[in-house]
Amino acid sequence: MACPFCEIVAGRLDASVVAQTEHVLAFLDLRQAVPGHVLVIPKAHVEDIYAIDAGLAGEVMQLGVRVAHALRETFHPPGLNLWQSNGKAGGQEVPHFHLHVQPRRVADGLLRIYGGAVPEPARRAELDDMAQRIRRLIPSDDGVSTPPRSP
Ligand SMILES: [Zn+2]
Repeated sequence: MACPFCEIVAGRLDASVVAQTEHVLAFLDLRQAVPGHVLVIPKAHVEDIYAIDAGLAGEVMQLGVRVAHALRETFHPPGLNLWQSNGKAGGQEVPHFHLHVQPRRVADGLLRIYGGAVPEPARRAELDDMAQRIRRLIPSDDGVSTPPRSP
């Protein structure tokens, strides 16, 4: 089956477009979880966060920020979520990277990230250990640095 988002980019599937740049397209999600639910996608087929170029992901985010401002002006929601899913367990349904921009209202029926119970704060030693494991796998280039923070 053809990728539905690539079909939209190619103009073979209909979509209500709200904005675009050379590499990025923003359009209303066909399934409006809440009024004004927008998807922002790279025009090139990129499956997920692991496949997208960091610069292109930045372009998706930049358009997402502009869309968020427009949604605030249009719908006056008291809240807004950016939501991006990867893999089946992460809830990704279309295998083409997409950023959801969702105006939010109290009790609008959408998922709460902690499902009600907010986790207790973790112990600092556990967090520091986890941070160390993550840090050593982040490339230190393009101005990214990963020094351990001294207490
Ligand atoms: Zn695609």
